[in-house]
Amino acid sequence: MVKDLVEFRNLETHFKTTAGTVKAVDNVSFTIREGETLCVVGESGCGKSVTAMSLMQLIESPPGKIVGGEIFFEGRDLLKLSKKDMSRIRGNEISMIFQEPMSSLNPVLTIGNQISEPLMLHMLLDRKAAKKRAIELITLVGISRPEKIFDSYPHELSGGMRQRIMIAIALSCDPKLLIADEPTTALDVTIQAQILDLMRDIKQKLNTSIMLITHDLGVVAEMADYVVVMYAGKVIEEAPVLELFQDPQHPYTKGLLKAKPIINQKQERLYSIPGQVPNPIDLEDNCHFHDRCEFCMDICKVKQPPFRSHGKDNHKSACWLYEEEREVL
Ligand code: SF4
Repeated sequence: MVKDLVEFRNLETHFKTTAGTVKAVDNVSFTIREGETLCVVGESGCGKSVTAMSLMQLIESPPGKIVGGEIFFEGRDLLKLSKKDMSRIRGNEISMIFQEPMSSLNPVLTIGNQISEPLMLHMLLDRKAAKKRAIELITLVGISRPEKIFDSYPHELSGGMRQRIMIAIALSCDPKLLIADEPTTALDVTIQAQILDLMRDIKQKLNTSIMLITHDLGVVAEMADYVVVMYAGKVIEEAPVLELFQDPQHPYTKGLLKAKPIINQKQERLYSIPGQVPNPIDLEDNCHFHDRCEFCMDICKVKQPPFRSHGKDNHKSACWLYEEEREVL
């Protein structure tokens, strides 16, 4: 039986600003299972990255703060761990790759130094053993002449190679969970495909779970086992990937899928969801999508829909269209 690896339970991460409170992550719950790729999808500012940063406990405070909920990793609530215990897990059992490899790599240290450091720190390898392992990792991520790359500086590598190195660093301590925040956004299309192939390969070889954050439904279709859709700080739909693509429930998810270009189909104009994401400051307790939704009803403007399944257990959404209670308002 596949075990749960990470469980977010009612996570709330807020940011205090002079204009008011931004509930960047608002009562978010979902689970990542062992060996699974879970994609978190949504527009910029919907809370995807803040959810991942909360898991890593890298929220800058102030202005940010995790104000509620729990994050279980293999049964331990990460929010209750000491800073020392959390830093042992971070980079060791959970690691992260970011969107822009150039700004994540240190420009004045060689690639070899940057891969060896976590190996010496977390795996307690000596310099010689760390070098051997670093060269194995550079080879694992598909880079030829690993000894030469070991002595190179980041500016000597292409964008695609730098992202491969970021993946090598993230994998250096055999993490159980790899968080990838828009890992291919800054790369051109052919390199994107290579990096996605590499991540799929690694998942198969090492059985690493992946939390992949993206706004690109093409990436979701290729990579995901399970999908969580976020909007304005909330999870508004979750389902296995095929189920979500074949039978989306929430009007926002339907809009996202409609906005996807279709190859071989002539389209006059690409569809876009009308309107804008709401101002995140002091949002009301209603459906945050109501301003943009063609099915909006009176109840949607005043009350938040519950998040639950409407048929299949593993497919949940938050929309009044599927609730009987809406009739009695
Ligand atoms: Fe649209 Fe109402 Fe459903 Fe929100 S709850 S998505 S406004 S129908």
